[in-house]
Amino acid sequence: MSEDELCLTCGLPGDLCICEEIAKEEQIIRVGIETRRYGKKYTLVTGIDPDEVDLGALAKQLKTKLACGGTSKEGRIELQGDHRYKIKQLLEDFGFPGSNIEVQF
Ligand SMILES: [Zn+2]
Repeated sequence: MSEDELCLTCGLPGDLCICEEIAKEEQIIRVGIETRRYGKKYTLVTGIDPDEVDLGALAKQLKTKLACGGTSKEGRIELQGDHRYKIKQLLEDFGFPGSNIEVQF
C-alpha cells in the first residue's frame, strides 16, 4: 500500500494506517503447560502472529532470560520446564500488553 492510498480497513492514508498496531494489541497470547514422557514439563506459548513477531528471536531471548532450552516452530514457542510464573512479566517486557496474555494454571 502506498502512502497516498487509503487503507480499505481503517480508511486512513497508508502512512497513518493503524491496522498493524491494532493487530498487535488484539493478539491473545496463551501460555500453557504440557507434560511429556518421563514427567518432563514444557511451557507452551501460542497465539503470537509469526508474520509480525520474529518468533525465533523471541524464543532465543526467553531461553536466555529463563536459562532453559526450547524451540519455536509453527507459530508457537516451547520452553523446557515450567515457567508460567515468570513468563508473563517477560512478555510484557518485550512489549506485549499484559491484559492480552492468558496463563493457564
Ligand atoms: Zn489500515
